[in-house]
Amino acid sequence: SIKGMYDRDIAWFDPSMEEALNLRTYLVTHFYEALEKGWIEVYYQPEVRALTREICGFEALARWRDPERGLISPGVFVPVLEDAHLIDRLDLYVLQRVCEDLQHIRREGLDVTHISVNLSRVDFQLNDMLQEVEIICRAHGVPREFLHIEITESALNENDAFLKQEIARLRAQGFELWMDDFGSGYSSLNNLKDFQFDMLKIDMAFLRDFETKPQSRVILSAVVDMAKKLGLHTLAEGVETEEQYAFLKSIGCEVLQGYLFSPPVPLAEILPILRREEGQLQLEDFRAAAFF
Ligand code: C2E
Ligand code: MG
Ligand code: MG
Ligand code: MG
Repeated sequence: SIKGMYDRDIAWFDPSMEEALNLRTYLVTHFYEALEKGWIEVYYQPEVRALTREICGFEALARWRDPERGLISPGVFVPVLEDAHLIDRLDLYVLQRVCEDLQHIRREGLDVTHISVNLSRVDFQLNDMLQEVEIICRAHGVPREFLHIEITESALNENDAFLKQEIARLRAQGFELWMDDFGSGYSSLNNLKDFQFDMLKIDMAFLRDFETKPQSRVILSAVVDMAKKLGLHTLAEGVETEEQYAFLKSIGCEVLQGYLFSPPVPLAEILPILRREEGQLQLEDFRAAAFF
């Protein structure tokens, strides 16, 4: 079973306040070395269809495996790389790795509908992302529909005409745009009418007090309803319990992601699952519980 391995059992490097500044400097000065020496790894977390528990895609998540400091979370290094204006280098590297992996998966005759990558608001200030993404896709023969792009809701601002335009350009070229961490920030619901997205990824914060606060169920079903009426697909992040799963399925949330199904894992863990199912995307772990 791949459940329970990796992320949860790892002792993540957790800097104290005084260490944080040193770490920041360390990350910025070692970033190019990290890229060259392969310290940056890409893990994949399955996304499952709520109705069947079948895998319907993966999200690519970056990890920095440092020879001195151990595994560093993107929650730590992504904001540092954004501040240092290096984030586009990371994200284009991850994108390249994802395209290589997609090519590898497809060459083996295995079936993957899509992989989602995370882009930062800052990427669009640093680079022509549409052009860069297209170059990488073309170089690896990856059709656009295989790549979905996630942008966190907190990056959106209704007055941001530039980002609005960049998102529209990407969608016009055939890339699906997913709004990440919906409901986690302080941004306005107006974003839903001002920015064109295909999928709403509902932030896991809504599930954290699921057992203790009945309000969270009301909010979750209202969000799923609203998304449907807006013509958006819905994915709930951070699903950890069967109870949460059953509820999300009952309110019509279409896609789920979380430790209940699988943590993010290296490609090597994904391949045997895809092979075992002869292209049918279903985790062995799911078989017992798949029919109810
Ligand atoms: P995100 O895109 O919202 O990704 C989901 C995060 O939730 C991941 O954390 C994932 O490991 C974690 N997660 C998944 N299922 C569960 C669960 O059931 N319970 C809990 N508690 N957590 C769960 P991770 O990998 O540490 O990434 C954190 C954030 O860093 C991501 O949030 C994303 O915003 C950013 N990030 C990660 N990789 C990249 C990247 O390549 N580029 C950019 N720009 N940002 C990235
Ligand atoms: Mg994401
Ligand atoms: Mg998220
Ligand atoms: Mg997040």
